[in-house]
Amino acid sequence: MKKLLVLGSTGSIGKSTLELARNFKDKFEIVGLSTNCSIDELEKQIKEFKTKAVVVKDKLQAEELKKRIGSKCEVLSGDEGLLDIAKRDNYDILVTALVGIAGLSPTIEAIKLKKRIALANKETLVVAGELIVNLCKEYEAELIPVDSEHSAIFQCLVGEEQKHINKLILTASGGPFLNKSMHEFETVTIKEALNHPNWKMGSKITIDSATMMNKGLEVIEAFWLFQLPKEKIEVIVHPQSIVHSMVEFTDGSIKAQLSSPDMKLPILYALTYPQRFNYTGVLTDFKKIAQLTFFEPDFDKFVCLKIAYMAIKTGGTAPCILNAANETAVDYFLKGKIKFSQIPELILFALDSIPADKVLDLENVFQTDFNTRELLYKKFN
Ligand code: MG
Repeated sequence: MKKLLVLGSTGSIGKSTLELARNFKDKFEIVGLSTNCSIDELEKQIKEFKTKAVVVKDKLQAEELKKRIGSKCEVLSGDEGLLDIAKRDNYDILVTALVGIAGLSPTIEAIKLKKRIALANKETLVVAGELIVNLCKEYEAELIPVDSEHSAIFQCLVGEEQKHINKLILTASGGPFLNKSMHEFETVTIKEALNHPNWKMGSKITIDSATMMNKGLEVIEAFWLFQLPKEKIEVIVHPQSIVHSMVEFTDGSIKAQLSSPDMKLPILYALTYPQRFNYTGVLTDFKKIAQLTFFEPDFDKFVCLKIAYMAIKTGGTAPCILNAANETAVDYFLKGKIKFSQIPELILFALDSIPADKVLDLENVFQTDFNTRELLYKKFN
């Protein structure tokens, strides 16, 4: 029986994780859960999984939940609640499905306890990749990617040696605006941007898919996870999202991992690695897949992808500035404050205005994140 702490349990990855726990009742126990503010959903989860401790980020909502469930379950709140629950040595695997930089500190606590981290929060590696990778080595903690592309690469690399990798090929669906012109980006609506063709996900990541910043963040994530130069990380558009990513080896041979697009498979692999469970929840029928196509991404149209490679080159806190600026820009777009086409403009503005610091410690990461958000807040309020 593996004990799971699922942070971000009311989001799409969190719910998929719990669906797997429901399916494998004799294999997984849920010892902790968290939400930002969706306490109705969390209350249902507590009842179903008999969870003894949870975190509600919003303090008012935390008080409301306490009133509802009484002493059956401990309700913690705020960022300090997330830290507290991650520090408890009562779980085997931390599933981190939080959105944004909030995932960083709890992940570090789990690393220090030498836990397995099933990492769905890509921002953790984007803002503090070097720090996290070094801490994992120091504490011998396992970092297993949940992001479908990185899970695919991780699976392709089982049994392979680092020196035999020629390049990683990350596939991208291209999002809802693959066939729109740059000119049309001026007028796209929030509703259009939220309508992803293949994946059902939270709103932040869905907008990131529309700008292709999601792929940019994934390039940075891959850079830290697999420790390869950025020239060896390639992005290719594959609109069907069946091939989740590939690895080309030095002899020219290529391995790929394929399945219907469903996050339950990469989540399950991160929980069971190096084992595989018997599972029939996600099936792939090649007779029903008409074609698999691949083509080069348009870097001029999807500027965010280009910016991500630039940020890797600059290094230090540049990816942290990029991430904070992107989170802010996406939030402003979803609130109707800026146009879709302004998202990359804001990110470039932040990268130009804030000098990247080479030193990357936790304090520096949080300060840079704060400075970037403040800069953009002042520009728009
Ligand atoms: Mg992905």
